[in-house]
Amino acid sequence: MNIILLGPPGAGKGTQASRLEADRGMVQLSTGDMLRAAVKAGTPVGLKAKAVMEAGELVSDEIVSGIIDDRLGGLSADQGTIFDGYPRTAPQAESLDTILDAHGRKLDHVIELSVDEDALVERITGRFSCANCGANYHDKFKLPAVEGTCDVCGHHEFKRRPDDNEETVRTRMAEYRAKTAPILPLYEARGIVSRVDGMADIEHVTAAIEAILDGKG
Ligand code: ADP
Ligand code: AMP
Repeated sequence: MNIILLGPPGAGKGTQASRLEADRGMVQLSTGDMLRAAVKAGTPVGLKAKAVMEAGELVSDEIVSGIIDDRLGGLSADQGTIFDGYPRTAPQAESLDTILDAHGRKLDHVIELSVDEDALVERITGRFSCANCGANYHDKFKLPAVEGTCDVCGHHEFKRRPDDNEETVRTRMAEYRAKTAPILPLYEARGIVSRVDGMADIEHVTAAIEAILDGKG
């Protein structure tokens, strides 16, 4: 199964993708995570992407579609995928069709997480993650069970993203509205879009997504 989680920054795509990964053995393909790894490693892609990401703008379609194509090439045919943060533009959606086809895959569901934009700034500015394993947390909505200790790996250091500040969040939301939201009708025309209330509790959102994947949504 191949699915897209679609929604503005902070909608909960990464949170839900990692839960599906754990529950169903699907593979999360987050272009944001891949780009951040490239920036950290100082690769040519990372050097090109760094300033663009810090400004909250979009990295070029060629770069992101290239990394998705590479990553799919490393998966076996029986591994399901969750696209998180990709595609984000009409050309990326077009490339994804070509790439999936080339890898003998097809898109099963596009799940839109609908959220109240005013809540997103709070979600994003409170977001942090484990510096060791990347597990995601929130200052108010998802604190580790033991303060200062990662639930997943027991590590004690955490980090925050440089682009998770209010000003950049506004740019990222504007990019979403202008370039990403307009790709929805393309998938609606194919009858593969489902909407989930992204303002519900994390567990409820997961249950709603699982129901869609099980054909009960
Ligand atoms: P995205 O990947 O769409 O940018 P995240 O999954 O990283 O969003 O979520 C942003 C922040 O909001 C994280 O800190 C996460 O813990 C928190 N969060 C995610 N889903 C919910 C939810 N349903 N209710 C409250 N907080 C949430
Ligand atoms: P995310 O982790 O999805 O919030 O993405 C963080 C940043 O990485 C974005 O603000 C963009 O600068 C860049 N990025 C991630 N995915 C894409 C994409 N599919 N297309 C263009 N830029 C992207």
